[in-house]
Amino acid sequence: NDSTKEKLIRIHEESAELFHHILLNTKIGEDALAYLTQRGLTRDIIDTFNIGFAPRERTMLQQYLLGKNSEQELLGKTGLFVEKDNGDLLDRFYNRIIFPIRNQQGKTVAFSGRIFQQEADEGAPKYLNSPETQLFNKRTVLFNFDLARPSIRREKEVILFEGFMDVIAAWKAGVTNGVASMGTSLTNEQIHLIDRVTDHVLIAYDGDPAGIEATKRASDLLAAETNFDIDIIRFSEGMDPDEHIKKNGADAFNELIAHGRETLFGFKMAYYRKSLNLSNESERLGYIEKILAELLSVTSAVERELYFKQLANEFELSIDSLKEQFQQKFHDSR
Ligand code: ATP
Ligand code: MN
Ligand code: MN
Ligand code: MN
Repeated sequence: NDSTKEKLIRIHEESAELFHHILLNTKIGEDALAYLTQRGLTRDIIDTFNIGFAPRERTMLQQYLLGKNSEQELLGKTGLFVEKDNGDLLDRFYNRIIFPIRNQQGKTVAFSGRIFQQEADEGAPKYLNSPETQLFNKRTVLFNFDLARPSIRREKEVILFEGFMDVIAAWKAGVTNGVASMGTSLTNEQIHLIDRVTDHVLIAYDGDPAGIEATKRASDLLAAETNFDIDIIRFSEGMDPDEHIKKNGADAFNELIAHGRETLFGFKMAYYRKSLNLSNESERLGYIEKILAELLSVTSAVERELYFKQLANEFELSIDSLKEQFQQKFHDSR
């Protein structure tokens, strides 16, 4: 019920404040703070995202919350603890940098914790998220959606990133309309969240093969919904946005966002091409078929004309024959 949810939210807000305090003001937070500083995060950014640190001691959060008069029974519902065989609780997050996850109302409903001393934690996952709780369903949450919403409205566009650190690095570079899903593929629930605010989506996933596959999946899912205008940014050399900003600076990143995007169609041409051997005639024909099929979803006649020309040039075909085949296809698919 509602009051349980309110209490769970209060516990999350109190926990976030504790983690944040430990990161900024204590000796045990020093290494974590140094790591974040070395990654380029400023005090201002750490405050904006309320980033914190959960120390090694695995009963600290529990003691703190019980001291704040939280009911023991409620703690089990927060997802912030794991239960030992004897029923005792241990803090789930320890020795990790803590990113609070806020819902669309800006309330903290979960955490994600990042390890930063790789050698000490062999085999541990890089990011650990809260489990599903009464407050938190990872399919429905977009990281930073609450803070990004005003800029999404102003820019009339949302930028989808893969990781929290990409959202944060972009924010620091002045690009504040970025969000990220929770380390999973984009979901329909998240798309509906976006759909209420904008119909322009810029996908800026990592430039590695996994990111390119995820871009294809996300764009297919978005295109299956009504009327999204989709652009793509591809980062070179397998970099992610955070790495790109670190290497090339904030200005270059802003320039890329403004002028370095490709259309979804352009992305797909490159995507299909790389998986085919175009010197093989039947693969070449298959490719042309695929591209013509994609052209069905290009609504602008001018844009379509441009792609006909590109295709014709590239494969030394006449525009007329391409158009004829397109008309046939278009006819068949009606
Ligand atoms: P960093 O720059 O801190 O290494 P990243 O965002 O570049 O982080 P990626 O490996 O690109 O990390 O993963 C993208 C996103 O996927 C992360 O932000 C996180 O949400 C999620 N993720 C990555 N690794 C894991 C993991 N082991 N378990 C759960 N989620 C993960
Ligand atoms: Mn990645
Ligand atoms: Mn990444
Ligand atoms: Mn990264």
